[in-house]
Amino acid sequence: MISVRHLKKTYTTPNGETVQVLKDVSCDISKGEVISIIGPSGTGKSTFLRALNLLDPPTGGEILVDGENILQKNYPMNRLRQRMGMVFQSFNLFDHLTILQNVTLGPIKLLGMNKQDAENEAMHLLRKVGMAEKASVMPSSLSGGQKQRVAIARCLAMHPEIILFDEPTSALDPTMVGEVLSVIRQLAKEGMTMLIVTHEMKFARDVSTRIFFMNKGIIYEDGTPEQIFDHPLRKDTQAFIRRIRSLRLEVNGADYDIYGFFTEIDLFCAKYALYDKCDSIKHVVEEMLATLLSLEERPLFIELAFSELDYSLALTFMVTGLFVSPLNRELADPIAVSIIQGVTKSINEEKMPNGYRLTFSL
Ligand code: ADP
Ligand code: MG
Repeated sequence: MISVRHLKKTYTTPNGETVQVLKDVSCDISKGEVISIIGPSGTGKSTFLRALNLLDPPTGGEILVDGENILQKNYPMNRLRQRMGMVFQSFNLFDHLTILQNVTLGPIKLLGMNKQDAENEAMHLLRKVGMAEKASVMPSSLSGGQKQRVAIARCLAMHPEIILFDEPTSALDPTMVGEVLSVIRQLAKEGMTMLIVTHEMKFARDVSTRIFFMNKGIIYEDGTPEQIFDHPLRKDTQAFIRRIRSLRLEVNGADYDIYGFFTEIDLFCAKYALYDKCDSIKHVVEEMLATLLSLEERPLFIELAFSELDYSLALTFMVTGLFVSPLNRELADPIAVSIIQGVTKSINEEKMPNGYRLTFSL
């Protein structure tokens, strides 16, 4: 159905550097496959999805859909977008339209359906995702999980041949992850072809026919869920799989919820019996966010990873747009630094193409 050959994507940063985000991605996707894409942050998973449906066209390589190269100049873009649906982390519903209108807009405007048929079908799809009773309300009155289910119904209304999901549950409150994953599971049962970028490892394992482990701009390893999760062949996959008892926190600006983070850290520690580490983790998170990183140094990802093999616990901060260590620069608050040093075993600082990664062992 889709053949990707030597796909490349390069960006030029504002200061003129070129960053090759997709180095050489090749794969074949057949009808009915459910492929989960896993891998560390910043390895090009979103870029890959966006290149596939030409939201952000690749800079090299080929994408063949049913044997036709979609990168040729006059390929009908609308038709392609209709065939490849996309569901985003942030829902992207139209806030000024009702739920029903959100779902019927595409079919009426782009598929030329009449209003009545579009509404009948939209109601059918909303029922399927459990959202029919909200058909006449505005998106702002829905929870995140409900919005995402509507976004899936809206996508289905275009009769796509494949759906690309980019971290569909990452922006959700943990209590709402399940309802969205259930809808995706149902689609998988019905034979929908899907490509799903996710950090939900248990879900990926249950639902997928294949797993792609993306790492540093390539599909570093691919295989069945059993191969990738139980017997990964390559070194980086093994390291990633071992680390996946992990918690990810995302900070997108000044108004992060530190108490919400603390609750998630408490839950994580309770789950893996890491009671003695809990306070140390919170100290590092608090000092980093409140004292050592400035506003411009957000957004950032925080990942807490626990390995049961050697009981090691790593707390990683991936900070975009930071090029010196926040612990060593002049404005670093020495008290905050010494608190962090006091509760960590070691600190690893790594310069990345687009920022800085600090990993604290606890
Ligand atoms: P992932 O989804 O695996 O976390 P992404 O595909 O979002 O990774 O990003 C991969 C890398 O590409 C990151 O280092 C990111 O900063 C960079 N990148 C993504 N989009 C752009 C862009 N428009 N301009 C410059 N760099 C970008
Ligand atoms: Mg991404």
